[in-house]
Amino acid sequence: MPYRAPISDYEFLFRHAVNFDKIAATEKFSEASDDVVSAILTEAGKLCEEVMAPLQRPGDLEPARLENGVLRTSTGYADGWKAIAEGGWVGMSGDPEYGGMGLPMTLTTAVNEMMSAACLSLQLAPLMTQGQIEALEHHASDELKALYLPKMMAGEWSGTMNLTEPQAGSDVGALTSKAEANGDGTFSVTGQKIFISWGDNDFAENVCHLVLARLPDGVPGTKGISLFLVPKLLPDENGNPGVANDLKVVSVEHKMGLHGSPTCVMQFDGAKGWLVGKEHGGMAAMFTMMNNARLGVGGQGVGAAEGAYQHALAYALERKQGKTPSGTIVDHADVRRMLMSMRADTLAARAIMLANAAAIDMANATGDADWMSRAALLTPIGKVFGTETGMRVSETGVQVHGGMGFIEESGAAQYYRDVRVTAIYEGTNGIQAMDLVARKMMDGGEAASRLLDEIEDHAEQARATMPELAGPVWEATESLRETTEWMVAQSDMNNRFAGALPYLHAFARVLGAHYHLKSALAEPGGPRFKLARYYINALLPEYAGLLVQAQNGADDVFGLSAEEFVS
Ligand SMILES: Cc1cc2nc3c(=O)[nH]c(=O)nc-3n(C[C@H](O)[C@H](O)[C@H](O)COP(=O)(O)OP(=O)(O)OC[C@H]3O[C@@H](n4cnc5c(N)ncnc54)[C@H](O)[C@@H]3O)c2cc1C
Repeated sequence: MPYRAPISDYEFLFRHAVNFDKIAATEKFSEASDDVVSAILTEAGKLCEEVMAPLQRPGDLEPARLENGVLRTSTGYADGWKAIAEGGWVGMSGDPEYGGMGLPMTLTTAVNEMMSAACLSLQLAPLMTQGQIEALEHHASDELKALYLPKMMAGEWSGTMNLTEPQAGSDVGALTSKAEANGDGTFSVTGQKIFISWGDNDFAENVCHLVLARLPDGVPGTKGISLFLVPKLLPDENGNPGVANDLKVVSVEHKMGLHGSPTCVMQFDGAKGWLVGKEHGGMAAMFTMMNNARLGVGGQGVGAAEGAYQHALAYALERKQGKTPSGTIVDHADVRRMLMSMRADTLAARAIMLANAAAIDMANATGDADWMSRAALLTPIGKVFGTETGMRVSETGVQVHGGMGFIEESGAAQYYRDVRVTAIYEGTNGIQAMDLVARKMMDGGEAASRLLDEIEDHAEQARATMPELAGPVWEATESLRETTEWMVAQSDMNNRFAGALPYLHAFARVLGAHYHLKSALAEPGGPRFKLARYYINALLPEYAGLLVQAQNGADDVFGLSAEEFVS
């Protein structure tokens, strides 16, 4: 499907929303000059437009499949992966010592978002591999790093993440996969994992699985879990793929969407593995990968939103129906409302994702605790708002198409079907929202309060030039602050959890308004000012209803007994 990489939007947001110049001013990222950023975005944009976007539809029509135990990917995906690998995109933010480009996550986030817009199911393969690279960089031994990282960064080998088991979904601590020491520094890993994205492929020389399993002396729950690197083919003495390990793909799921990405049931039968991190320290190591993936999955949502928006706009500009000045449906007020909402929401979600990545970069570059807590606070908000924007915008995209939206040939429905899972994997959105109001507020709401101070200060300054936009942003932020204080004061955690998702949505609405206000100030009277005005006037006010829901407490949601639910 045609796709146009929105490079100028990224450049604009880098400059005016997330202060990318601060990142480029650090020693760690001193090479990320304006020229480099522009060249990277342009090259990645070309890859997305010319190589990846044409694979979106074939992947949907011809899903990945298992043939006599061999995983076959959709036509063209092998060439797509090769182009991604050869461009160095897998190792974009990887450590240069192992062949990575060492570029900021902010830039990688923009590139990953473009790839997601072009072809979500293929993009999941490099995303999984990037997550594994980061986990190995932080937790693996020097030997494992030296052997695996260069091959993964070059895209010669791919990576997966194996947490889920039939009885252990959100509750990862319930897993039963086992690992036993072989006495030579390696381990035998046994168990079944389900829903493993890109559990195998026919284009990388080797597939490296990061597997969570329990050692014999591991206590029940998450504290007794260890992490193992289990390759499909065991590296020989020269580090080349050698004999097959004792693992296989049992089956590939039939899914609602994301057909080009094989979602596998994996069986490990005493497969040889190497410990990553400390014994029983698996969750800490896996969290590195999961946090990376959460940022990536939020970006997948924004990418899908952009793709769906472009698709719907192209249709609206052509479809003739009713009397309008242009003769096409684009001039009907309700269609305008849909297109404006799609575009304004996508900008808000994109800015939040980039701000999240920028906080990670600043934390990595400076080691500053405030940046770390900012990154931690923004991660669940970005994951949830990014993916829900993907769902909302792609659903609206179907509506813009009218009946044709319901017909597969138009391609509008694919965006919705493909993006739907992003709200489920990498920690369901409900659980992310609980993380925001619980773990991320263990500081008594300090990190949240610091962010709200910044938003209010900015709105206060903007009052002088754009009072009609700055006023509502300030007021919404003040209401959010009151609800944040209410949240922190709840000692019964169910009171927080019952309203966690609406609270997160309200937070995202306010953050989105903050970035729209920044955009408007940078482009007074221009298209981004008009978009900001729409967002602040029409979408931001949702916060008020959301905050009422957020503070409703647990009594009502537990009002019906289980018996009353079914009666
Ligand atoms: C296409 C696809 C690809 C995937 N890829 C991978 C992968 O590569 N690797 C991997 O390991 N896993 C993968 N998964 C698994 C995915 O991460 C899980 O599906 C997800 O974590 C939810 O687990 P579950 O499906 O068991 O749902 P459940 O945990 O059974 O959840 C069901 C519902 O209950 C809610 N719920 C559960 N527990 C709580 C709680 N404590 N508090 C509040 N609400 C709760 C959930 O939010 C959800 O709404 C994938 C799944 C899919 C569908």
